[in-house]
Amino acid sequence: MRIGLIALLHESNTFSFQRTTLESFRQNLLLTGEPIRSALGQAHHEVGGFFAGLDAAGVEAVPLFAARALPSGTILADDYAQLLERMLNTVRQAGALDGILVAPHGATVSEQFPDADGHWLAELRREVGPALPIIGTLDAHANLSPLMVDSCNALVVYRTNPHLDQRARGMEAARLMVQTVRGEISPEMAAAFPSLAISIDRQCTEEPHLSPLYQAADEQLQDSRILSNSILLGFPYADVAEMGSAVIVIADGDKAFAQEKANQLAEMMWSMRHDLDGKFTSVEEALEECVHSSERICLLDMGDNVGGGSAADGTELIAAIHQRRLGPAFGCIYDPAAVQACEAAGPGKKLQLKIGGKTDSLHGEPLDVEVVVELLCDGKFTEPQPRHGGITEFDQGRTAICRTDTGLTLMLTSQRMVPFSMQQLYGCGVDPHQFRILVAKGVNAPIAAYREVCDRFIRVNTIGSTCADMSRLYYEHRRRPLFPLEQEAEYSI
Ligand SMILES: [Zn+2]
Repeated sequence: MRIGLIALLHESNTFSFQRTTLESFRQNLLLTGEPIRSALGQAHHEVGGFFAGLDAAGVEAVPLFAARALPSGTILADDYAQLLERMLNTVRQAGALDGILVAPHGATVSEQFPDADGHWLAELRREVGPALPIIGTLDAHANLSPLMVDSCNALVVYRTNPHLDQRARGMEAARLMVQTVRGEISPEMAAAFPSLAISIDRQCTEEPHLSPLYQAADEQLQDSRILSNSILLGFPYADVAEMGSAVIVIADGDKAFAQEKANQLAEMMWSMRHDLDGKFTSVEEALEECVHSSERICLLDMGDNVGGGSAADGTELIAAIHQRRLGPAFGCIYDPAAVQACEAAGPGKKLQLKIGGKTDSLHGEPLDVEVVVELLCDGKFTEPQPRHGGITEFDQGRTAICRTDTGLTLMLTSQRMVPFSMQQLYGCGVDPHQFRILVAKGVNAPIAAYREVCDRFIRVNTIGSTCADMSRLYYEHRRRPLFPLEQEAEYSI
């Protein structure tokens, strides 16, 4: 048995001014053939799970194509077309395959195809014909489309956010594939789409409000006719028709039963809608909490959520901390020009900088401040532990650590970087324990790393292209109605 492996992973923020290009993928991951095995085989990632699951069953894994870019804006039309062509070419040259394991993100948008995942999965289906099993994984932030469901035999979604079960879900998909090819099961997949968009600050699966839903899903799995089920939390920052939440149920040989069970989960999700609506803390409220606390606090900068595709140079929180002299505090800002200025000055030198707020007009004004350069480093680090996103090797480019006289330590990077690993700090000689406030540009994902050192997390309703309050985003293309954007929304099956 030979099973092909394909991954095309991008979370596209259509509100970002930036465009994602082939180069964005090259900078992160763009591979064909065997090198995919060495890059991802051991990673806490669904593709690592594909390899492990097939190995465990004694089945040959045939790595074909893997592309990943950091979350950012919509993918340019031509660049997406090139990715797709490269992918399909690897399938044409693969020889006889018994099935293909796929890893779409599920919230990928190209200029030409708003449902880019649905599009490439349908193109893949057209290429290999209706009989070959296509089974895969999705990020919990996928905006599921009927085309994705129609193009695949089974899709398995991460059950955790922060995403710590990516490898396990990849193994689950591999197991379903092996059983399908051996004729032991016949997966029938159904989906349901409640009229609901879950606020990003209510999407942490470790918090109690979501547990009844995941418990209900787990209980369904007690029935041996149910092969798999999934909950899709959705990605609010893609203004596309399929934006919002969904559920998937896969039953053995019985589509109607799968649909009945999917409807049950969707109705439960809908009944929880008021609990899945955002509860927002302003910058002022968050800083007041910090003033009156002796705990080490992580402020989650929801408006500049790099893992959701934002600019990574938002200044609203660091400027407020600086003005109120609330240090010792830490923040990381993408600003290649400021890094260059620090490198030109050298360690120990004082200089005046305008930091951040340069990518677009959504993330605040540059912070005009005098700093002392403390340290310069190459910005490469390795994370051995399971962390959100399953990334092991990180490279944020040349990096400068500098400090203001208000006790603010700033890490300035030459590449945008997601705050998914404490090695980002340790690797540059920064001990996070010296701070009372650490700013992490994310909502849920950073928690997996930052709980090592922080006593408490406060999600802050900052401005930016990942603004948590969906009512402040201008949507043109999303499905309607969606609660809470349409308070009068109704849902019935
Ligand atoms: Zn995600």
